[in-house]
Amino acid sequence: MPVTIIESRCPQNHPCPSVKVCPTGALSQDGNKAPTVDAEKCTDCGACMDVCPMCAFKMSE
Ligand code: SF4
Ligand code: SF4
Repeated sequence: MPVTIIESRCPQNHPCPSVKVCPTGALSQDGNKAPTVDAEKCTDCGACMDVCPMCAFKMSE
């Protein structure tokens, strides 16, 4: 299961640093919108969670 993104927590007003730290390229961002995750590529490593100040990423159970 990939991480999920809680869009309401993301102010959607800046380039997402999590996109750059994702080791598998699973995250993408359209402009400054909340990022989206490619479920096929996500390995649940948690790197994106560590850099998001708003806790917008939720690890799957
Ligand atoms: S780091 Fe968090 S708050 Fe910032 S754009 Fe990414 S998901 Fe949104
Ligand atoms: S959990 Fe890891 S692989 Fe999945 S989106 Fe976050 S950084 Fe990328």
